Amino acid sequence: MAVYNFSAGPAILPAAVLAKAKEELQDYRGTGMSIMEVSHRSSIFQEVIDQAESRLRELMQIPEEYAVLFTQGGAWSQFSAVPLNLLNGSKKADYIDTGSWASKAAKEAARFGEARVVSSSKEDGYTTIPDVHASDFDIEADYIHLTTNNTIYGTTYPQLPYTRGIPLVADMSSNILSEPYNIRDFGLVYAGAQKNIGPAGLTLVIVRKDLIGKAQESCPTMLNYATLAEKGSMFNTPPTFAIYLAGLVFDWIKEEGGVSAMGRRNRNKARLLYDYLDQSDLFSALVDYPFRSIMNITFMVGSEELEKKFIQQSDEAGFKFLKGHRSVGGLRASLYNAMPLEGVEALVSFMAEFERRG
Ligand code: PMP
Repeated sequence: MAVYNFSAGPAILPAAVLAKAKEELQDYRGTGMSIMEVSHRSSIFQEVIDQAESRLRELMQIPEEYAVLFTQGGAWSQFSAVPLNLLNGSKKADYIDTGSWASKAAKEAARFGEARVVSSSKEDGYTTIPDVHASDFDIEADYIHLTTNNTIYGTTYPQLPYTRGIPLVADMSSNILSEPYNIRDFGLVYAGAQKNIGPAGLTLVIVRKDLIGKAQESCPTMLNYATLAEKGSMFNTPPTFAIYLAGLVFDWIKEEGGVSAMGRRNRNKARLLYDYLDQSDLFSALVDYPFRSIMNITFMVGSEELEKKFIQQSDEAGFKFLKGHRSVGGLRASLYNAMPLEGVEALVSFMAEFERRG
């Protein structure tokens, strides 16, 4: 039975990447050792991290004036690293609240300065993205924070707000590499790896170099971007295997045509499922245009009883992790880069059959 993994994260990885990692697991390219077993100071690993960084720079067209940092601690650690590093002028930052991760990011920042919530879609049950204008932002803010894709609610920005030159900081955990972004629109981008990048444990930060080196006095060494930037992400021991695997994922994206190709493919996959949901009498999407995420598609089915039945039957049929986040319930299908079109086609057929059976 084919298994399709719709988990929100840790999530599906490309089958070709897993095959390659398996092939190289015990003998990394003729070294007689696993990449997990070699020193991060060795030339073997240096090549792995350099290659991963340059491939990522190529895929996301990251300009020279930005540093790429490989770190740990998940997006959660960045909720504090961002204010610790960037709240260095007025010590004020503006946050757009589009879901629980965005709201948690703001709460964490409030430990280190003033984190103002400029706008929130909480009253809509986070099914929309608020319309924020440049004049809503505090011109003195050290940065503006938003979450490009809201994993739990399945929403995304139809377009990014204009920030009048104030650095825009984005939590891109659940849609990085899913479609093209212009890095120059951001002062900083961060993402936990466990969705579109690789295994949990690795966290990616892309930051404009002029924003580095002005951290608050109390900033812990390992959260200070200067520490990571000066030492090529290897001040202490980095998550070597996760970086290796991320590198394989980046190579796979390149082989598959790059981020634009991913975007086209992801839009097709998402359209297939939304189109089905929109015409179904049983299932319905939780989010309307133009806020629909192409990564996390949230939906519901008639009653709680039917939901339980659907979750159980879909699981038995090989469609894994379709239960919505515990905080909102309902159903959610995460269609990250590695989810093949066949997986979505098979899911839609299964749902149509479920609907027919009644
Ligand atoms: N931000 C977003 C958008 C997320 O989806 C998540 C978790 N999946 C987090 C932050 C928290 O990430 P982590 O578990 O890596 O700390």
